[in-house]
Amino acid sequence: MTENLAETPASLDRALKALDSSAELTDTIRAEYAELTDTIRAARHDYYQEDAPTLSDAEYDRLYRRLEQIEAQYPALIANDSPTQEVGGEVSEAFSPVTHLVRMYSLEDVFSLEELRAWLTKAEENTRLLTGAAPQWLTELKIDGLAVNLLYRNGVLVRAATRGDGTTGEDVTHNVRTIASIPQKLAGENHPAQLEVRGEVFISSADFKKLNEKMVSEGKNPFANPRNAAAGSLRQKDSAVTAERPLSMYVHGVGSRTGLDVNSQYQTYEQLAAWGLPTSPYSKLFTSVDDILRYIAEYGEKRHSLVHEIDGIVIKVNDFVAQTQLGYTSRVPRWAVAYKYPPEEVNTKLLDIRVDVGRTGRVTPYGVMEPVLVSGSTVERATLHNQDVVKAKGVLIGDTVVLRKAGDVIPEIVGPVVALRDGHEREFVMPTECPSCGTTLAPGKEGDVDMRCPNYRSCPAQLTERIYYAASRGAFDIEALGFEAAKALTAPAEPEQPPLTSEAFLFDLTAEDLRDVKIRREKKVKGVGTGKFELVPYFYTKPTKAKPDPVPTKNTQNLFVELEKAKSQPLWRVLVALSIRHVGPTAARALATEFGSMDAIAQADRDRLAAVDGVGGVIADSIIEWFATDWHREVLARWADAGVRMEDERDASIERTLEGVTVVVTGTLVTYSRDSAKEAIIVRGGRASGSVSKKTHFVVAGASAGSKLDKAEALGIPVLDEDGFTKLLAHGPDALTPGE
Ligand code: NAD
Repeated sequence: MTENLAETPASLDRALKALDSSAELTDTIRAEYAELTDTIRAARHDYYQEDAPTLSDAEYDRLYRRLEQIEAQYPALIANDSPTQEVGGEVSEAFSPVTHLVRMYSLEDVFSLEELRAWLTKAEENTRLLTGAAPQWLTELKIDGLAVNLLYRNGVLVRAATRGDGTTGEDVTHNVRTIASIPQKLAGENHPAQLEVRGEVFISSADFKKLNEKMVSEGKNPFANPRNAAAGSLRQKDSAVTAERPLSMYVHGVGSRTGLDVNSQYQTYEQLAAWGLPTSPYSKLFTSVDDILRYIAEYGEKRHSLVHEIDGIVIKVNDFVAQTQLGYTSRVPRWAVAYKYPPEEVNTKLLDIRVDVGRTGRVTPYGVMEPVLVSGSTVERATLHNQDVVKAKGVLIGDTVVLRKAGDVIPEIVGPVVALRDGHEREFVMPTECPSCGTTLAPGKEGDVDMRCPNYRSCPAQLTERIYYAASRGAFDIEALGFEAAKALTAPAEPEQPPLTSEAFLFDLTAEDLRDVKIRREKKVKGVGTGKFELVPYFYTKPTKAKPDPVPTKNTQNLFVELEKAKSQPLWRVLVALSIRHVGPTAARALATEFGSMDAIAQADRDRLAAVDGVGGVIADSIIEWFATDWHREVLARWADAGVRMEDERDASIERTLEGVTVVVTGTLVTYSRDSAKEAIIVRGGRASGSVSKKTHFVVAGASAGSKLDKAEALGIPVLDEDGFTKLLAHGPDALTPGE
């Protein structure tokens, strides 16, 4: 080599240059490497020792990956105590150390399906090479908890320890004895002389919520997530505290095993289950990679409806001989891998807690956060529901918080990272006055935790929301009336008196009313915000030298066309547009089909309303309450005057054969859907009811009719089949011979 270089000065030059740059690189890399190692060590301490992580798992994983990358590029840097060479978890002096009979390991993580495929291909090749056969894969949920090692001697639990650094763990025997699902003595017989059972201790998602609420109500700090709650609960000095915590466990492996006659991981689980140990019901055996990918996709969807949190899927070579042949690195088995789902939890700063006034006057606190990317979208606001939730979560303004956005679900502030507080955080104080109109807030009803602004009629914030809602796609469907337009109509920057002070006049608006409306808008230069604001006309064009006379904008013209069209929308849409509490499109459709007109709905008593399928008592009360309010009826009257439809058209050629007759349809019919059957009853003057009572005249029972049919029989109400129903519709009750 040296000779070659000596002979070719140009290549020597190149080599020296490369050496140079690698020396330079190494310095920077060394610094980065040292910093990464320190940060990861500190994070591990907080996570494993304190059970109070200061980094999100996603951030930790990112740093850890970077460390692995650097080590792969510069193997000389790898020290024996590098975090990549050790199972992460120190042993606290608060517990007696326990040496595991057989070492405990961590798992190799992969973060994408490509990486997983590559891992599986390699593991399959290696398994074939070593054993002569393709592996069978055992696929399991990766429970987000902490690992324990249970030692059974002749079927009796004698010791329990945490994983610790893999060699030595912490003695938590007394605490583990308080976990009901872990048997003190194994069931059945023929127990091994010595058996180490490994499993994951966890807290269910529902219990976690309750536990945190309890912690906060006792003035203690909440846990950041269920894993830390489980770890913090198991690693207690006083086992009476552990006993109060709802801990569970699922088995996921064995260590030392003298006299255990099994030859695969799955068979081991079956044997352990037979001895009364809790095993996960979700583990599955597969031979094809496609099946594994399907399993991953399936639990990716279901992960939030499971009892416990999972952060991934573990795939293991099932056969013990193959496992032994494949062996271990210093940190992980070569026969297993953990696929981690994309992170759904991140840390961010809670900058402020503000309140919003909703359509029904509810005042809702929400968190304003430093924008952060989570589950594929940037989040900077998350609702906190009400002041009790803020309290229960124990978050303070200025906290670093754990933010979670599970799939498509609304972002949620899980809790504070208490360890990062510096004393500058402050408590949120729920305002006593409406931020929009200054009215004193009050609970909606006695015992209601939600605070409301009782100025329902005129509070500008509520009015804006109601108008916006009335124009939404599920109501009048007025595209030109979005939130900004609704705000410009009800709470513009100018003039002081807005064009609309009540939704009653929505259909009376004229272009002239909108001429002077101005809103506050940020000045932009080439599409970029300047931080400066100006008042601009919203509904009319801005006067220019060329066009000094403002004219309604295109959107404003559309607004009037759409308002006109909205007047003939069907009754159910008008009902939705009224913002009656709990009356969304489903209930509104049911009401419109049943009653056919606004008048009939307004006059119906509670029982009649509640009996409508899809309505029920709560909605019935809400409707009664709504119609009992004067200004609500004024809105309706005004809309009716303006020509808004208050009655659905009926086909006059259809004979009203069912006047005064109540019919309940149940089960599946062949020629009618549920809705068309109801419609057929209603257009003939009958009542289509959702529940069977003494007042029911007929029950029509299709295939798979259930409890309603039973009730009809019990009450002696005539039951019709589909033919009978057709006759009833055509000719009325008199056409039916008794018994039909
Ligand atoms: P790991 O959590 O990625 O995987 C190994 C562990 O998975 C096992 O020890 C076992 O306890 C558990 N497990 C759950 N279900 C299992 C199953 N079905 N079969 C086998 N094992 C199962 O590795 P780790 O070394 O315990 O921890 C590393 C991870 O912990 C990181 O990826 C990160 O998510 C988190 N962590 C976070 C921080 C932080 O600051 N936020 C710090 C350290 C670690």
